[in-house]
Amino acid sequence: MTGRIVEWGIFAALVAAGVGVAIFGSGYYAQTLFTATMLILLAVGWNVISGFTGYVSFGQVSFFGLGAYVAALVMIHLAAPWYVAAPVAALAGIAVALPLGLIMLRLNGIFFALGMFGLARIMEIIASSLGITGGPMGTTVPVAQSVNQCALVMVLVAAAALIGSYRLMRSRLGLRLMAIRDDAVAAEASGVNTWTIKVVAFCISAGIAAIGGSLYVWNVGYLDPSSAFTGTIELQTILIVLTGGIGTVWGPLIGGIVIAALSTALWARFPMEEQIVLGALIMFIAVVMPGGLMSAVSRLGWLKRAPIWGPPVDPTTLPPAATDEATSGPAAARREPVLSCRGLGIRFGGVVAVKDVDVTAYPAEMLAIIGPNGAGKSTLFNLISSFALPSTGDVSFAGRKVSGLPAHALARSGIARTFQTSRLFPLLTVWETVLLAASSLHASRAEGVAATTRILAEVGLLEHWAEFPDTLSPGRQRLLEIARALALKPRVLLLDEAMAGMSAHEIARVHAALRHAMAQGTAIIAIEHVLPAIAPLARRVQVLDFGQTIAEGIPRQVLSNPTVIEAYMGADYEEPAHGAA
Ligand code: ADP
Ligand code: MG
Repeated sequence: MTGRIVEWGIFAALVAAGVGVAIFGSGYYAQTLFTATMLILLAVGWNVISGFTGYVSFGQVSFFGLGAYVAALVMIHLAAPWYVAAPVAALAGIAVALPLGLIMLRLNGIFFALGMFGLARIMEIIASSLGITGGPMGTTVPVAQSVNQCALVMVLVAAAALIGSYRLMRSRLGLRLMAIRDDAVAAEASGVNTWTIKVVAFCISAGIAAIGGSLYVWNVGYLDPSSAFTGTIELQTILIVLTGGIGTVWGPLIGGIVIAALSTALWARFPMEEQIVLGALIMFIAVVMPGGLMSAVSRLGWLKRAPIWGPPVDPTTLPPAATDEATSGPAAARREPVLSCRGLGIRFGGVVAVKDVDVTAYPAEMLAIIGPNGAGKSTLFNLISSFALPSTGDVSFAGRKVSGLPAHALARSGIARTFQTSRLFPLLTVWETVLLAASSLHASRAEGVAATTRILAEVGLLEHWAEFPDTLSPGRQRLLEIARALALKPRVLLLDEAMAGMSAHEIARVHAALRHAMAQGTAIIAIEHVLPAIAPLARRVQVLDFGQTIAEGIPRQVLSNPTVIEAYMGADYEEPAHGAA
């Protein structure tokens, strides 16, 4: 708490100092301040898409230049003041980013980065060839009354952007952005529409850059394509974020101050070497301090990111939650399947991973799927949960065909899953991991927090709420993944070898949580390599081998089935020990 007060005290002091220099400083100081805060603003914008969301862009200057041109046109042709031109520029940035993001953010990270690089070049060529913008010669623009006025506006705008970025990082949107950055597949499985969320982040980031461009052109009173789309601004923006700490709220501010001080000092004494030093600095930071100055600061325990929608009180001091709210459950008598898959199949090149498999799951009971390694079990889960598109067959869920729906939509409508190899978010806490999934379901903050608290208590992780996954034991990591899936209140829960590597105590925890979920009507499909881990819970077993169902039935029957024994033991296996099941 005191940390937060110090944090905001320093911030307020910096803003006050900036305002003081902007009002009373000489033209030189005001101009230096303007440039530094403009770069901080651009850095905040770049950090939203490239830091929080993890999509590194080499073309942020596209929106800077676009904003500059739109603002110039508005100020010239509509004789509008800067405070009209800047919002119009922001809207233009968003309007261009929206369709562009819808296309580009389908791409892989590296192709997105390259695509953005190309975009900046295209924008520069367009600006050179359009008569309305003065072509390659550029155009003069109504300029601000004084540099001091520009600096004052820029300080306040940059401060607002930093506050906005802080609030973003504590919001549901911020949580989703970080989840996408950490593991987009796991984010989808938690019900996050990753594509839409990325596009939203891209639009915010573009809008901020465009405002930077609009104030830039108002400051210099002149605009030409090569200064609007210059690589220097791009480079400085990225350098600031890397120096300060990518993906952190205060990184752009700290980096901005350090780089501004450095380049001012260099420029005064060694104007020719400035670029060389800055270039060398990027390399140095990349090698020695990938987390930027913020990583050193947070190692001292300062400026830690605040937990998102943290628990109202320290949950470890709470009395144990009474989890059993009337374990009546929906009418278990009706045996209507909640999930039914018919003829599912998929091939990868020459490999037929799954072939003509039917799966039926009933409410409030567990189906175990077993089979040797490579039998196609995990692939079958990918088909059911829409992480892979079946080449044959279809999936019906709650009486509705769901094949082809996006994975996040299925997760929200009630098919939750875990992954064979844990997919947790390295930089999200236990609390935030479960909250992410819970808030896919609950619109209200209070409900999301309540659900998260309840589920963490149920799996016994509440006291670890503030920890990061890498500090948890492997068994607890598994529990966390199960908790995340349970937070989606699934009607069908798919567990892929969820109990592998767990202690007996942890398995007991999971069994209790699964029994509880089944009592509420959840159908569970559990893959295990070997049956004992789930045999006590499973009502039916289905055995896969070479992508096909080779046996199904009640556990005891299936385990004594000769075909099953052969699949597990190999064809030359002799007499099995009967009655061992
Ligand atoms: P299990 O979970 O039963 O051990 P998997 O479903 O992981 O088996 O794999 C089934 C088969 O499909 C294996 O032969 C595997 O190599 C293949 N396979 C799975 N995913 C892919 C993929 N994305 N591309 C190519 N082959 C794959
Ligand atoms: Mg598998």
